[in-house]
Amino acid sequence: MYQTRTFLTFCLLIGAFSIASGQKNVFFKTEEKSQKKGFSLQNLYFNFSSGYGNQNWQHSLSNVGLRAGDDQNIYFSDATSSSATATNFTRNDSALVRTVTLTNTLGLQDWVQNPGSSIGGQPFRRSETITYEGRVISQTTTNLPTGTVTDGYNFKYTGTGHSIPFNLSVAYAFPRFRLGAGVSFEFTKMGLLKQKDSVGLLKEFEFGTSIFSTRRLYGYVGYTFFRSKSYVYTTDMNIGIFRMSKSFDRASMRYLPMFNGGVTLEKNLSEYFRVSVSPRFEFKSYNLALPGNIRTVKHDILALYALVGISYSIPSGKKCPIKACGIRMHHVHGGQVWRGNPFYRWQNPRYGEEDPKLVKYKYKNRRKINPY
Ligand SMILES: [Zn+2]
Repeated sequence: MYQTRTFLTFCLLIGAFSIASGQKNVFFKTEEKSQKKGFSLQNLYFNFSSGYGNQNWQHSLSNVGLRAGDDQNIYFSDATSSSATATNFTRNDSALVRTVTLTNTLGLQDWVQNPGSSIGGQPFRRSETITYEGRVISQTTTNLPTGTVTDGYNFKYTGTGHSIPFNLSVAYAFPRFRLGAGVSFEFTKMGLLKQKDSVGLLKEFEFGTSIFSTRRLYGYVGYTFFRSKSYVYTTDMNIGIFRMSKSFDRASMRYLPMFNGGVTLEKNLSEYFRVSVSPRFEFKSYNLALPGNIRTVKHDILALYALVGISYSIPSGKKCPIKACGIRMHHVHGGQVWRGNPFYRWQNPRYGEEDPKLVKYKYKNRRKINPY
């Protein structure tokens, strides 16, 4: 549950931050002119970011049987052709339990990643009758159900993983909006999935291949809500598709669209070069068809990211080729405009801007009587 709370807190913080920063939009009027008007290559931003991601996987398994002890499979029943018969009601840990016989089931150890490899590399498909204990939810001892019932256990599994994403995107930056597209590659190391409810009869689920990769392709839209000379804050969203690596049974997977949102806080180091930090959340899910199409299991993946990035634009003019020329601003030789500074520095620094500390206060001069 802490994941959900973290997620909600995170959303609230972003919201509060956006509203608070929105109050300062007067800065926009004065600084938005630093953005080039009309189409300019300089407004095309190439972004790279990386960082850390914390993933939370969740799975709901409804109407499944289990046989604790021997093989630790989960038995999935086909809702249309299986039937469960309840017999032998007893009390166990103050709850009413019944022994249920489930027919026509599919026993699986892997229902997350690659079900086909469950047993010795062979699909584990069998039409089997199993007996397990089911908890009676809404019955009283004086009104016991008899005959055929079709419900089984409902299980929730959850687990966390750590990941390192690498994102590459390109976006056109209008004064207020950004539009673009990107790709991403991510390495993930997943831990065990644990049964979430109190029944606790099943062992943890261990990924057959716990280190895997994810690829993404997405469209990008952003809204810039704060801008000053040095800082640009944008709230943005990526919507796209994702694919898991080969350790997943990709032929049996159906991916749902991916949503990734957050804020990007950029610091302009020059007109062409920026660094950024970006807290983000992501939601994606996929449906996995179990062997023989006996049923489909939905897997939800929620992730939080802390990213740092760099952003580069192609400078509008070439750098001055004359070595002896020490001009730092845009300037002219032979009728052509040249940049004086490299791309990572401001081209037209105001007087003293690049060296705001007095010489006598510099650390290296701290012991000199006459630092000049
Ligand atoms: Zn020059």
